[in-house]
Amino acid sequence: MKNDKASPIKLAWRIGYLWYESPAEFRRLLTFLERHRGVVDEVALFETITHHLYVPLEIFAPRAALIGNRVRALKKAGFSNIGINVLTTIGHMDEAWDYNVPLPFQPMVGHDGKTSKGCACPNTPELRRYVRAKYELVARASPDFIWVDDDIRMHQHSVAYACFCPRCLAIFNQAMSSHYSRESLVAALNDPAQGTCRRAWAGQNIATIENLLSEVAKAVHSVNPGITTGLMTAGPGWSTYSGQAFDRWFPALQATKARPGGGFYSDEHPFGAINKSLEVGRQRAALPPSVTDCQYELENFPYQSLLKSTATVMNECTLAFAVGLNGIAFNAIGMSGGGDLAEFDAIPQRAAVLRPHWERLVKHAAGLPTTGLWPAWSPSLMACRSLRPGEDWFAADQRYDISRSSILAQIGLPLAVDRSGSATVLAGHVAEGFDTAELQEMLAGGVLMDSTALQVLAQRGLDHLTGVRVTRRLDNGVWERLTRDPLNGRHGAEVRDARIEFWGDASGAADELVPTEKGVRILANMENYESKHQGRCMTAYQNALGGRVVVMGYAPWMFLHSIAKRRQMQNVADWITRGKLPVRIVETVSLVPLVRMSAARDRGVVVLLNAGLDLIERATVQIRAPNVSVHLCTAGSTRRLPSHTIRGGVAIRLEGIAPWTTAVLLLGGL
Ligand SMILES: [Zn+2]
Repeated sequence: MKNDKASPIKLAWRIGYLWYESPAEFRRLLTFLERHRGVVDEVALFETITHHLYVPLEIFAPRAALIGNRVRALKKAGFSNIGINVLTTIGHMDEAWDYNVPLPFQPMVGHDGKTSKGCACPNTPELRRYVRAKYELVARASPDFIWVDDDIRMHQHSVAYACFCPRCLAIFNQAMSSHYSRESLVAALNDPAQGTCRRAWAGQNIATIENLLSEVAKAVHSVNPGITTGLMTAGPGWSTYSGQAFDRWFPALQATKARPGGGFYSDEHPFGAINKSLEVGRQRAALPPSVTDCQYELENFPYQSLLKSTATVMNECTLAFAVGLNGIAFNAIGMSGGGDLAEFDAIPQRAAVLRPHWERLVKHAAGLPTTGLWPAWSPSLMACRSLRPGEDWFAADQRYDISRSSILAQIGLPLAVDRSGSATVLAGHVAEGFDTAELQEMLAGGVLMDSTALQVLAQRGLDHLTGVRVTRRLDNGVWERLTRDPLNGRHGAEVRDARIEFWGDASGAADELVPTEKGVRILANMENYESKHQGRCMTAYQNALGGRVVVMGYAPWMFLHSIAKRRQMQNVADWITRGKLPVRIVETVSLVPLVRMSAARDRGVVVLLNAGLDLIERATVQIRAPNVSVHLCTAGSTRRLPSHTIRGGVAIRLEGIAPWTTAVLLLGGL
């Protein structure tokens, strides 16, 4: 049923300006929406055509009035939850600047002195006046809600890192009692000794966004306090330069709606759907509790239907619900108008079929956190990271990429986006985003880490809790041979050859580890290509705090896909979590699990994506939830699966999982 108040999910549609500006296009849009009424719970009208910020108010005022007409017409046609998606508050990027009206405000200035053509500094009184006036006009169009799009960030506005304009420098200098020019401030931010300066600069980014959002809320609610507000966000995997301070930004906007986002635009790299679900999940997990409407950014830009298959789109939705979102914001029908809207029918048609399925999933998992291995990240990573001589704070640096351990999902290990997961994953230098007490707390539990993270811990005086230290870095000519430790099962003596001279994350990654404590277990050694021993590279250690720590020195985040390595990593994950890893898939198949579970392990969901091109004929899924009943939920039915008891849980068998489809298991009573 359309707009069913009892529905636990919201399917929302974002509509480009050119789909409703002319009466003829609007009639066609209405026909499209009416055709798919059962999956149209909400409609958001974009207020502009380009990502360029500036539309003069004398042009925007009649446009806002037109939007008001369309809002009323949509309501008259029987649709509810009609709002406005303000695409540009400060501008996204330089786009169509040749003929758009140039900014009459201070443009954004990058750390390199580049000046944006389409994005304004958020801190000038002139821009703030414009933003207030624009949002007041938007609010007068009688929307039920207003979205603030994800241009509210201080990075990537066609200038990489902003804003170093005179106004922003003056604000900073006043706060710091300093006299920085752009050049001297950038030099300070790149000075290893100037951590205080970096934290203060990131703090200014947070406050800039907070103040701007506060002004938006005031402007909207001065017209109508009943208008709901929502903030669209980008993920921490892109950058934490802007501060990722959801605890301050959402209250500033008084927002109860969120739309976590991330880039995933085509079928070219289909595993991107999992990466994006983790990225939006991290954002969901960081929301304050006042946000109750959390819509996934389903983004098909630039809206050519063969670019991303409908099956992929449906998988994205299922995965979004799996990580705890409760809505989908479809941006899927294009911005340019004038085409045949029937091109986009397949998405709402298929969504209509899957809607009951998604509702069952979301209802059953309501309020439950994800569980599994938590890849650690911090909103203050960039602010708090260390800098070594010669390093550039602004440069892309893989060691600070919080997404590297997503590869663990490819071998079937469940990853959590909530920090309450079963154990922690520390990759690269991400540990620098945490204070020493937090790191020690992590080390009192289960931790899987690489040898680069170990070096960060050594700087904090915590390496004794790992049992090892790095003594030598090799960068060529070695592979890894598993030992006969019980954690390697029957795969002792097997070789993993990542050819670290070749490419990607494995390049030059071969650190020798030496035990510093008693009781360190050796899980793998390095050998050269003539099978001569080159040192130990993977260890397991239970420390004095009771924490179980596994350190990986050899190509930790690439080429983990062999049967032997996968089995070892499963055993390691079970060991560090003391058997609490929520799910283990027995067969070596390309099933990616996302798991939500209650603390008592009596309720939960397991969503499994077949992320390979082979039919999975059979998969045995061990679920570490004792005595729990398991139902398989498909688009057409929900049926209980036979299960048998295993230590600490139950096991079920799935059969015939087609490539790039999902299987949804509901745990506990329905
Ligand atoms: Zn500025």
